[in-house]
Order: sequence, then C-alpha cells, then structure tokens
Amino acid sequence: MQHYSYNRMIEEAEASLVLSDREPRVALLILEDLFDMDRTRLMINGEEGVPENRRILYEAAVERAAAGEPYQYVTGFGWFFGHRLKVNENTLIPRNETEELVDFVLSREPDDGRTVVDIGTGTGAIGLLLQKHWNNNRVILTDVSDKALEVAEENAENLKISTEMLQGNLFEPLADRGIEVDCIVSNPPYISYNERNEMGDSVFDHEPHLALFAEDDGLALYKRMIEELPSVLRKGGTVYFEIGWRQYETLSSYVKEVWPASRPQLKKDINGNDRILFFRWED
Ligand code: SAM
Ligand code: GLN
Repeated sequence: MQHYSYNRMIEEAEASLVLSDREPRVALLILEDLFDMDRTRLMINGEEGVPENRRILYEAAVERAAAGEPYQYVTGFGWFFGHRLKVNENTLIPRNETEELVDFVLSREPDDGRTVVDIGTGTGAIGLLLQKHWNNNRVILTDVSDKALEVAEENAENLKISTEMLQGNLFEPLADRGIEVDCIVSNPPYISYNERNEMGDSVFDHEPHLALFAEDDGLALYKRMIEELPSVLRKGGTVYFEIGWRQYETLSSYVKEVWPASRPQLKKDINGNDRILFFRWED
C-alpha cells in the first residue's frame, strides 16, 4: 500500500476546507482533538504513516467541518478558560466573550461562602469554571434543557467538580425549593429572531435555537429575571448578565424602571462591545 503520511493528510484536509470557504486551521484542530496530535508532535511524527482507521475517522470529520458544522461539534469538545469541555448539539459552544464574564465575576465576588447561581448553564462553562476557582462559595447550575444538563454533568465529572444542578425555567427550580442566592450570573439566549440575517449559517444551522433566540428582541428572559429577582436573590445581592452589544441601553433602563434604587453598570468586552450588565439589587 502507498505510504500516506499525517503531513499529507493535513495538507489535503486544508485544501478541501479552503475549497469550501472554511478556515484551513480547523484541519489541525481536528487532528489535535481526535488524536491528541499538536503542531509539535506533527513536526516530529508528521511523516509517519496514518493507520487506515484513523484516516477514515479524520476524513469523515473534515468532511463535516467542510460542510459547515462547527469543528467543536465534530470533535465533541470546545475550549473554555483553558479547559476542554464536552459539547454537543444540545449545548451552545462556549464563546470567548463568556470567558470574560467568568473573569469579571471572579474579580468582583469574594470567595466567602456565598451562594451563586448560573442560570442557563449549557455545557456548565460559567458555573463550573467559577466553582473550580472558588473554595468556599457554592455554585448552583440550572438549565431548562435536561440534555444540556447531562453534558454539564459530564463536564463536572471531567473537571472533578461537584456542584448542584437543577432543571427548570429560569428561577423556578430555585424558588420551588426555597433556595436563596447572593449572586446571579447568566448568559441566556439573547438573539432577536430579526437578527437571523446577521448570523453565520454555521451558528444558525447547528447550534440549538433554544440557546440562541429569545422573544421581545432577545430581551424576554432578562426581563423575566429582572422582574422576578425577589423570588431568589437576597437583598443587596448581585446580578451579572452577558448581553448582546446593542442591548445595554434598553436593559439598563428596564432595571431602573423596575428597581429604581439599583444602579446598573456596563462592562465592555475586549473588542470594545457592550457585553456585561451588572448591578447590586436594591429594592
Ligand atoms: N451558559 C452557557 C454558556 O455561556 O456557554 C450557555 C449559554 S446559552 C446562550 C443559553 C442557555 O440557556 C442554553 O443552555 C439554554 O438551554 C438555556 N435556556 C434557554 N431558555 C431557558 C429558560 N427559560 N430557563 C433556563 N435556561 C434556559
Ligand atoms: N453570543 C452568541 C452569539 O452571538 C449568542 C449567545 C447568546 O444568545 N447568549 O452567537
């Protein structure tokens, strides 16, 4: 049989990705995730022959990526805050902006035994990483999707973190159990149905719509949570929402309308876009 090397396999994959208008670097990312083979190992072992079973697996994966599926769904993993998180079609792929949210919450909330909830946890990205950094605080993870929580459970196991996970709509699973928290963190679905044309096809076609879209120009779930703070948040507790880059004005006005004593503030992301709305809840 003709010698078929890793180098050649990567070259062919890059060419087929470019031909489909996809990023060629994905060829290496897939190789790394499937076979734990990074650039350094490729430099050393690149001329080795590829076993047939690996070639079949790799080519099928590249084909899916070339057809527009995010490579994280193809490999089953995405990176968040330096950790490899399982993802699947029931979870959003955690975004870089959301790493900034975790960083921001860690910089502001002391590790003094408070209770923090991550509403709409998906893969568990926010809540699990917060819990990983804290020794004393207790983090609760919730999602309306059972299937997303299954993924979060697996990620918790892989990261050796134990947290409480509750299924249900927004604050309901907490309120039903009489759980009060000191801090609410959430990256809910916030894309307006009108924004479909501004989104990439690979997001729209592959990521769960339950994780992306919300009614009322994308604001529906924030508004519900703002209105319902008294059902779960202790007085003087804090709220951190990841928001869309055009949502701060409307949402901060809404917070002041419902809770006139509260002072919403804005944190921009690394690209200079409005990204986090946060406030101490005063009623
Ligand atoms: N927190 C994850 C992250 O930042 O990568 C996932 C965020 S994703 C934008 C929103 C998540 O909220 C999804 O996992 C979705 O299932 C969940 N969700 C949607 N509607 C919800 C609701 N009414 N109550 C609780 N969770 C909800
Ligand atoms: N920031 C994500 C995107 O634009 C959406 C996540 C969300 O709706 N919370 O693809």
